[in-house]
Amino acid sequence: MDRFTVVLADFFESIPLSLDLREWESYARAIGEFRIDNFGSLGTGLLLSWMGVPAAPPTFRERALQGGFLPRLGRLTADVRRGDGTLWRRTRVISYIEYNVEGPSGRIQGQEPQENAYQGEAIGDSRWLRATNPSLNPFADRRTCSEFRFFDNLIERMAHVGMVGDELKRGKVHGDITMAINCPPCVSCIGVVR
Ligand SMILES: [Zn+2]
Repeated sequence: MDRFTVVLADFFESIPLSLDLREWESYARAIGEFRIDNFGSLGTGLLLSWMGVPAAPPTFRERALQGGFLPRLGRLTADVRRGDGTLWRRTRVISYIEYNVEGPSGRIQGQEPQENAYQGEAIGDSRWLRATNPSLNPFADRRTCSEFRFFDNLIERMAHVGMVGDELKRGKVHGDITMAINCPPCVSCIGVVR
């Protein structure tokens, strides 16, 4: 194994398998120690494949790009003018997602783009997920990530149709979620995906 793969394998061990608070705390500690925001396309692809998340099929990637949902140039910035007249430059991260999940009590399916929120845009804590802030940028609020927002929203909708109330119900939910993002997801969102 090359050094990069060794570091990745080490990191992989720390990614939580449950929503247990202690697991989240040790993941937050690992993220602090690794001092890394994201593992790039290559590293993220490996981490996801170890989690059992395969690469999206080429036909899906074509749909995501041709639908005009994703900018082709990687990270983009947008200027945001605040009410007090200050100008902020923010990075736009956009995910395009197709999903189809089903349980005994119903089915939720759709396709949609999801953009990240503005830093500091008022959002509450998720009832389901926890974000972790890599120490490189302590001011970045990873609850604003497009991936975090999508999964939080989806689980909220699943809760409405009674899919997530308890372990038994959750165990009966199955389906597919396919996602394309215009840049590699941060380490907080890798934890969310798992
Ligand atoms: Zn993220």
